Parts: sequence; C-alpha cells; structure tokens
Amino acid sequence: MYPKLIIDLKKLTDNLEAVANITKEEGACSLMIVTKGLCADPQMVKLVAEHKAVDFMADSRVKNIASYAGQARKNGKKTVLLRLPMHSEIEEVIKHVDVSFNSEISTIRLLNEEAKKQGKIHQVLLMIDLGDLREGIFYKEEKLIFSIVEEILGLSNIELYGIGVNLTCYGAIIPKNDNLSILTGLAEKIERTYSIHLNMVSGGNSSSIYLVGKDELPKGINNLRLGEAFLLGNDTAYGTRLPGATGDALILEAQIIELQEKPSLPIGEVGVDAFGQKPYYEDRGIIKRAILAIGKQDTDLDSMTPLDKKIDILGGSSDHTILDVTNSDIEYKVGDIVSFELGYGGMLKTATSPYVEKGYK
Ligand SMILES: *Cc1c(COP(=O)(O)O)cnc(C)c1O
Repeated sequence: MYPKLIIDLKKLTDNLEAVANITKEEGACSLMIVTKGLCADPQMVKLVAEHKAVDFMADSRVKNIASYAGQARKNGKKTVLLRLPMHSEIEEVIKHVDVSFNSEISTIRLLNEEAKKQGKIHQVLLMIDLGDLREGIFYKEEKLIFSIVEEILGLSNIELYGIGVNLTCYGAIIPKNDNLSILTGLAEKIERTYSIHLNMVSGGNSSSIYLVGKDELPKGINNLRLGEAFLLGNDTAYGTRLPGATGDALILEAQIIELQEKPSLPIGEVGVDAFGQKPYYEDRGIIKRAILAIGKQDTDLDSMTPLDKKIDILGGSSDHTILDVTNSDIEYKVGDIVSFELGYGGMLKTATSPYVEKGYK
C-alpha cells in the first residue's frame, strides 16, 4: 500500500555514528538523540536504544517516551522530556521520564509532590532563554533564575540536573560562542554560589553541532540534543550536510493515479483554493500532469524533493499532489511510484499520518 515512508535502518545507523563521532570524539559532549521527528518509530527507537554511543533518549511527547522508556532504561539510557510538562501530565512524566526540561516553579513543585508519591527522585533541567524566545527563563532575569534554583535545591524529591538552552526554533537565532558562553557562565555561577555540581549544560539542538571541532563550542557545554542531524543528516544552523551523514535515510513513495496532458493555467474566474489561499499559476502551456495519491493531510508539499530532478511539484490539496512530469526522462504511467527525499516538515507529517505506511530497509 502507498503512500509509504521507507526507513533505511543501515543509513540511520551510519548517521547516528556520524553525529556520535562529531559530538563525542571532537566535542566531548554526551549524546542525546531526539526521537520526535520520526514519531518514535519502534525500529528507529530500537536502533538508538541499542547503540553504545547514545546516552539519552528524548522526545517532546510523554506518549512517545512511554512507548520506549523500559527499553531505554534497560539499555542504560536516561529518558528526557524536552517540552515543558503540562500540569495535566505530571503523573505520566514522573512514571516514564528521568529528566524533564522546566522553566516554571509551579510545575516543578507539582513534579516534586508526585515524585514523593511515587517514591522517586526526579531530575530537572532548567531552561534558559538566550533570545530565541521560545521556552526558558530570560537570561537577563538572574534574580528569578537564582530564586528558582534555590527553591529546587530545597525540594525533597527533585534534583537539579543542569541547565540548557534551545535556539533556532522560534526566533531562528543561531548558536554562537558568545550567546552559549552566557549559558556556561551562568552554570559556573550557580555551581560557585551553591557549591554544587551541575551534571548537564545542554548547548542546543542540531543547530549547535556545526560549532563542534571548530573550537567554537564554549568549554562547559557538555551535551547536545540531536534530532534532525541524526534523521536527516543536517546541520540546521546553515543547512549543510554533516560529514559522514546522508539525507536519504528516509524516502517517501507515492503512487500515480492520473496522468494526462492538460493546460498549466486553470480555466475560469480564480477564487481561493481548498485552503483559502489565493494561488499563483505559471503558464507553462500544455503539460504532462501526474496526480499522486498523497496530499496535505499526509505531508508537507514544501518539504519534499523528488528524486527525479526533472519533476516539479505544482501543488496539491488535502489528498492529491500534482506534478509536472513533462521534462522527465522517465515515461511515467498510472500506477508508477514517485519517490521523494524529505525535509523536517515532510518527515514529521508523514511519520505522524496514519495514512502513510511504513517500510524498512
Ligand atoms: C525538538 C527539540 C530538539 C531537537 O531538535 P533538532 O533540530 O531536530 O535536533 C532539541 N531540543 C528541544 C528542546 C527540542 O524541542
């Protein structure tokens, strides 16, 4: 059945080793692999859980973590919740998660109460916002940071595991030596002030990996959290391919259900398309148009690239994708399969859609 997401486990293993070489060999960082981009696919999870180089397995959804917490812990990996916990999921967090990222003391207090109930010590990593303006306590609010640290240190069932930052997500801010140095400076000050040791100073996601090995990553950053770098082989600060990694470990396949010659310009008065957008159409004359049985409900049309470089994606609707195959060297027929490499959005949507089958290589 199609559409199908083909996951090449050998290539994913190669990517895992490529990012492990960079972070561990060159950067002396622990390796946290982030599973959410592929919706914690069980085969991918198995590969990560059983790999020696991985120290932590992380996701933004407790449901994904719950699906593999046992497997991760059995293999000596800690589970990490990246998204700040909701007050409505505290019990599940304490049950399945070893380290959770936090920025709100009200949530940390609830985690402490629940950890007491379950007889556990829960580890908390405090998020600091260095200007990307998604989660974290704003770095200039030092009094607030220190008051929260102090309260955490007094909680019976919470351990302050470390501090961290997230960048290049909302504000698209690129990690640099100067902004990450604010984080390491803060970590030192917390350690000095309270005579404690922070286990983790987490310097970001796949947009931070480019700093490793260029003497740019400040000393003191001892962890990176990698999703896209592992799954798609990308440094996401500048969009380069990481050495030793590949971008085609994941391939989307879809089937042609119509192939006909028609004009490229719609005929009649133009209103709005199925998504309320006023579309723009380029006049290419009469073209060979292939319709694929996959649409915006299953994928992100802006985040997929045909392996056949002579095909253009013209657009689509909920259940259909329309291609211009006029210039291709391949004589496509109805029933043929067209393959695509994916970007982050395409990967996320196809991995999450119940309409997209999964296959493994
Ligand atoms: C999603 C996420 C990551 C992983 O991001 P990639 O760009 O896929 O490496 C890391 N940290 C946090 C907080 C996240 O939400």
